[in-house]
Amino acid sequence: MTLVNLNLITDLQMFGAAEVNACVSCGNCTAICPLADNDATFPRRFIRLAQVGLTDDLVASKELWTCYQCGMCTNRCPQEADPAEFMATARRYAIAHYDKSGIARILYTKPVLGALITVVAGLFFALFFASIHGTQDTQSLKLFDFIPYPVIHTMGIVLMVVVALFSLLGVGLLARDIAKRDGVTWGSLFGSGAAWKRTGKALWYALGIESLGQKRYREDCADDDPVEPLYKRRWLIHALTIWGFLGLLAATTINYGMDVFGLKATGTWVPIWYPVRLLGTIAGLSLMYGVSWFMVFRAKKLGETWKDSKPSDWLFLVLLWITGLTGFLIEIALYLPSAQVWGYWVFLIHVAVAMELVLFLPFSKFAHAMYRPVSLFFYGLAREKVDQPA
Ligand code: SF4
Ligand code: SF4
Repeated sequence: MTLVNLNLITDLQMFGAAEVNACVSCGNCTAICPLADNDATFPRRFIRLAQVGLTDDLVASKELWTCYQCGMCTNRCPQEADPAEFMATARRYAIAHYDKSGIARILYTKPVLGALITVVAGLFFALFFASIHGTQDTQSLKLFDFIPYPVIHTMGIVLMVVVALFSLLGVGLLARDIAKRDGVTWGSLFGSGAAWKRTGKALWYALGIESLGQKRYREDCADDDPVEPLYKRRWLIHALTIWGFLGLLAATTINYGMDVFGLKATGTWVPIWYPVRLLGTIAGLSLMYGVSWFMVFRAKKLGETWKDSKPSDWLFLVLLWITGLTGFLIEIALYLPSAQVWGYWVFLIHVAVAMELVLFLPFSKFAHAMYRPVSLFFYGLAREKVDQPA
């Protein structure tokens, strides 16, 4: 039985979407949206779902995550109902809905308490590492003598287990709800050779074509920033951020693997051109480039996409930026001829902020990195069903 939530619009407005009540369902926004199609019609339909209080239909929608918030719909809305902001708000609401800890809701709707939690978490990590720090070699920078690697490693594992539990729960519930809504069953995914093929193609669409290749963002949303030079295009900045993040993840994993298999102990000095170091450096530059532009766009409130930033949007960007910046400062310190005392303290900040970044993954804007690919998988599946019935 579908339950009607009479407070849905009011609740949503705590997450943003201040103007949504002005919508008269004319449909202009859906007509202009370059990403709405037969398999995903929005944003008018979603505003209507909110107006009639259908929470479950709203949050369990793959369409929410196919929108890239270009703002074209808002520019065309005769009522100034700001449908682009509504879509962003509905995504925040969905993240909070699927986060069973309640932290995401606090971060989105109680900015002062959210800021306090963020500061306390950051201070906790910083003070903890400061309390256990070891010696500072002044001849060469020995970072893991200052903060022991086993402590960082153990703390990282504990954090990742906690974060993985919340993340898998949220993503699992979203996948279950979209599957139910779209009539996707295990049989339709894996019940035959054709079903396997369709599932594989949907997976490739979600992870390869869209998440890595940014195809629709690049091609279909391109006409909202036609005058921007390539280096400032939103899809490229978004892609460089993703590629940078994945590159850093790969470098960290390879480093860890080399340590486990006895090929290179973590913390061993290597030249700048050493392949894994080079991968980390290029990926870090890519990430910093993307994140810095996003911060400039948000600070300047450029266009419809960036005019309304929530503190939790900033939290994600600021933590990423500090992690990147401190990472580069450590790299500089490592290649200076003598050990710099500041290098040890920058390392401490770097580790503390990186831990905080991981901790807030399921509760901040960062969560869209998990929810969007899952939704795109179902979107890809819907397209495959139309094109090639099993
Ligand atoms: S948001 Fe604006 S354009 Fe879209 S249906 Fe409502 S009134 Fe029309
Ligand atoms: S912001 Fe852009 S992609 Fe999103 S609904 Fe509006 S027009 Fe479509």
